[in-house]
Amino acid sequence: MAFSPRFAPVARSLRNCQRPVKYVQRIRPVAQIRWTGSTSATSEPFQPSDEGGTKGQSYSAKEIKFTSEAYPHIKKDPKFTQLSTEHVQWFKDLLGSESAVIDSLSNNNAADDIEPYNADWMRKFRGHTKLVVKPESTEQVSKMLKYCNDNMLAVVPQGGNTGLVGGSVPVFDEIVINLSRMNNIRSFDEVSGILVADAGVILEVADNFLAEKNHIFPLDLGAKGSCQIGGNVATNAGGLRLLRYGSMHANVLGIEAVMPDGTVMDDLSKLRKNNTGYDLKQLFIGGEGTIGIITGISILCPQRSPAVNVAYFGLESYNKVQQAFIEAKKQLSEILSAFELMDGKTQKYLAQVKGRKLPIEGEHPFYCLLETSGSNTDHDSEKLQTYLEHVMGEGIVEDGVVGQDATQNADLWSCREGITEILGHWGGVYKYDLSIPIGEMYDLVNETRDKLTKAGLVGDDDSHPVVDVVGYGHVGDANLHLNIPTRRFDKAVERELEPFVYEWVAKRNGSISAEHGLGITKKPYIGYSKSDTMVKLMKQIKELYDPVSIVLLDVGTPI
Ligand SMILES: Cc1cc2nc3c(=O)[nH]c(=O)nc-3n(C[C@H](O)[C@H](O)[C@H](O)COP(=O)(O)OP(=O)(O)OC[C@H]3O[C@@H](n4cnc5c(N)ncnc54)[C@H](O)[C@@H]3O)c2cc1C
Repeated sequence: MAFSPRFAPVARSLRNCQRPVKYVQRIRPVAQIRWTGSTSATSEPFQPSDEGGTKGQSYSAKEIKFTSEAYPHIKKDPKFTQLSTEHVQWFKDLLGSESAVIDSLSNNNAADDIEPYNADWMRKFRGHTKLVVKPESTEQVSKMLKYCNDNMLAVVPQGGNTGLVGGSVPVFDEIVINLSRMNNIRSFDEVSGILVADAGVILEVADNFLAEKNHIFPLDLGAKGSCQIGGNVATNAGGLRLLRYGSMHANVLGIEAVMPDGTVMDDLSKLRKNNTGYDLKQLFIGGEGTIGIITGISILCPQRSPAVNVAYFGLESYNKVQQAFIEAKKQLSEILSAFELMDGKTQKYLAQVKGRKLPIEGEHPFYCLLETSGSNTDHDSEKLQTYLEHVMGEGIVEDGVVGQDATQNADLWSCREGITEILGHWGGVYKYDLSIPIGEMYDLVNETRDKLTKAGLVGDDDSHPVVDVVGYGHVGDANLHLNIPTRRFDKAVERELEPFVYEWVAKRNGSISAEHGLGITKKPYIGYSKSDTMVKLMKQIKELYDPVSIVLLDVGTPI
């Protein structure tokens, strides 16, 4: 049994206390790298690339049903103007660069190039835009929005188009304002750790830049290779580091945004304390672009931890998952940086779809990924060893591995981050991103599976639309991702799922959208998580900042 020097003390202490040798053998360093799956959404099928093509496996956006056909009750507001070649020419004159405008109105050859900007990542939504514009400065965004406002042209802001609620693509022929060319890091202060950057900087690019300065971006998620920091702020993305660093509301210090009438809100503050009236930037964080386009952000970035450990283990029940989490909080406290849940089915499908071996042998009903980040390797390793020794010794954890270096840690992380991608393998996914009290979180997965099975919708062959019902998520944040991978989107499945899922969550005072936002998918259901008064106040804010409603999504109005 080979132990890395770091984990030798685990073996010794377990032997000293004469625990069964099987425990000693189970928590072990990862023996070898068995797979090299990318954890970024660059490997995912439905991302528009900078060139307008698609990355990853090939698909045609044209295979996706138009949102306007799938949801015929969503009607285009007749007050909006039809896009004309004169409008298009105005944008071309403003942007002055061929690559900054994709126009399929006056150029039939651009029809294929424009499609990836019309379609969302889940193959659920598809718009009819004939114009994508890519500004490269705040001034250009301002001129564009003023022009659209004056001419009654509807727009949709688009970052990396990795959003999971259909908010980043048009429904009708809204102009797509894509931020990908606004991708400059503006400044970084190594003393305060404050980064100021354009909204279109890719999250992974920002994090790599910060790595060189020994810092990290306070957000990490599976789509980091494609999503943009402006999109992250607009959706108040949660991700894998929230347990440790908190949400975007806690870390964003300032925002530069353009209001729908073209006014630039310059609140790119670098202050941690600034109690001078309403904190208006918070309205843009999680606002999903409904009251303006974020063009720049200033954000507090933590020091990069020199000591990072990742453990991956299997457990026999959800109750044991909770026990393992309680112990992690108690014993790892200040160095605990992530505690993630994956049910056995997600790991089984990950192995199947990717054709890879999982890090531990056998099948376990649940798996957890735990990360510690601290400043002292010996101290952190010792704490983790004591924790692992305890949870193995107490029979809380059945089997587990610990990464020995950064590559193996990333490899273990890919067992969690790769899930979103592989669940699309069979065709489509119904996705629910829910906040639920931790104790009851997994009950929803079982109850949903029972319900769909009883309705005869789950099965192994094409006659059944549903492949399975799985659950994973951020245990530390009480955030469950309930996913239903399907062979096709089917109204019979939707009738079983909704409003069942929302009612289940509302009964427990949870949230119907923990971190993905409302978009088109969740907007009609806001009432399950927000009172009429809250919705009314939100609508008043929308009316105040976007009276013409050119940014189409507006919270609170049922579609
Ligand atoms: C594999 C994978 C894993 C994911 N994991 C997580 C996760 O762990 N946690 C999580 O929260 N999300 C997750 N997501 C969802 C998604 O990545 C996030 O919502 C992300 O923050 C979206 O950023 P984006 O740049 O792609 O925005 P887009 O998808 O382009 O847009 C999302 C919304 O924000 C608006 N918007 C975008 N940019 C701007 C801007 N500059 N100004 C104003 N509005 C704007 C759009 O109009 C849209 O409504 C995941 C997605 C994938 C594909």
